[in-house]
Amino acid sequence: MEAVPKADSGMSVKIYSMPRGGIAFEDPFAPHKFETAFLPVLSVIPLIQHTGNKAYPIVFIGEYVKEGMLIGRGQGSGSANIHATVPGKVVRMASWKTIDGTANEALVVRLEGSFEKLGKRETPYPWEDLPSFEIQRIIAEYGIVEMDEGGRPLSDLFAELNMVTGPITLVVRCVFDDPWLAADMVLCDRRLKDVVEGAFITACACKASRIVYAVSKNEKKRAAQFIATASQQSLAQKIPSDSVIVGNKYPQRNRRELELAIRAYEKDEKNERNELGHLFIAGPATIAAVFDAVRFKKPILDRYIAVGGSAVKEPKVLKVRIGTRLRDVFDQCGGLDGSPERIVVGSPLSGRTILDIDEPVVKTIYAAVALKRKQVGGIVERSCIGCGECRSVCPVGLDPEELFKRCKTGGILAVYGCHGCGCCEIVCPSRLPLKDIIYQAQTNRGQYETAD
Ligand code: SF4
Ligand code: SF4
Repeated sequence: MEAVPKADSGMSVKIYSMPRGGIAFEDPFAPHKFETAFLPVLSVIPLIQHTGNKAYPIVFIGEYVKEGMLIGRGQGSGSANIHATVPGKVVRMASWKTIDGTANEALVVRLEGSFEKLGKRETPYPWEDLPSFEIQRIIAEYGIVEMDEGGRPLSDLFAELNMVTGPITLVVRCVFDDPWLAADMVLCDRRLKDVVEGAFITACACKASRIVYAVSKNEKKRAAQFIATASQQSLAQKIPSDSVIVGNKYPQRNRRELELAIRAYEKDEKNERNELGHLFIAGPATIAAVFDAVRFKKPILDRYIAVGGSAVKEPKVLKVRIGTRLRDVFDQCGGLDGSPERIVVGSPLSGRTILDIDEPVVKTIYAAVALKRKQVGGIVERSCIGCGECRSVCPVGLDPEELFKRCKTGGILAVYGCHGCGCCEIVCPSRLPLKDIIYQAQTNRGQYETAD
């Protein structure tokens, strides 16, 4: 752990970092500038927008839909409701397969008519006296899912939390260890108050007794803003808010690494504070979506995404309607400079490669990156030179060099512990596709199951 001077007071504040590995990840092709995107003429609204089951469509081809109207009903656990993000006519059903073979279907809506919510004065609804099950019901009704990572429906996560005995702490993850999280930074800049109120709503929904803002060192001034804003809320006495400053190194934001840092903080604080208990970790975009659903009865209609990469002419953070095709998103950023070698949604280190530029923005996409050939690792594969760089950066203490060699020769069938952060791959001077090969084996599960 390291200590750095507090910005104004001269006192030191302790930095809680992951115990090993990680990289300082910078990318000159990540965006800084913010803009609101044009509304798409055609919106492609998938019936699956997270890692779960698809919603059942409840509108017909040719039917007119309103902005925010329910168009796909979630089918129990693992599924989430889907809403129209623009008004218009449902003109057809589209279908495609993702790179891992998952089939997806979408309702295609042609923009027509007037907006119910865009540009209108919104009515705030009081929520402070609602019981937790009612808040959970509203969040489920508006189809709120985790807006990053796997994107599980919050209704599923709340169902798990309902079974927890002992205290629960909500951790608001404002950890910016990756320049491709620029959209979350913009959201925190523009909607800090909403994130703070959303954190109280989420805490009430899951009966959390504390809120902890985990803020990375490079953004530590924001921690004070969160706490000052939280102290003005009516529930501030009942649900106390703290901040923890964590390291900047990638992948500090990963669930495992963040939990290690928070537990180290808990250990230090144990004489002054109660135990944190079960940690429920949520990012600012998810928390803002909870705020919109409960405060304004609004589903997720749009989101901030970071658009850039070496093949994008003008990288920007855009506020984009869900259902906008990536082709339109890149056009809004000046278009593509030639043919990209790879298009990724999410961070280039850990994101998902997409095969079709007409795939739409969904609730879980926080970045869209188009890469030229020279930025894509693993294409020009050379021999391992045994430098050991991959071992030194692996946050879970694996030996990527050894695992890669054994996976390639069939000597290892499954790996356990790799969370696909991509640190090993980015530092490898031989540009070996370490993460892809090791993480593929990880999906088979098992503790270093060997073929020997
Ligand atoms: S082996 Fe897995 S966990 Fe370790 S650095 Fe590589 S991708 Fe990350
Ligand atoms: S970083 Fe690449 S070249 Fe170096 S030991 Fe690991 S696999 Fe081999």
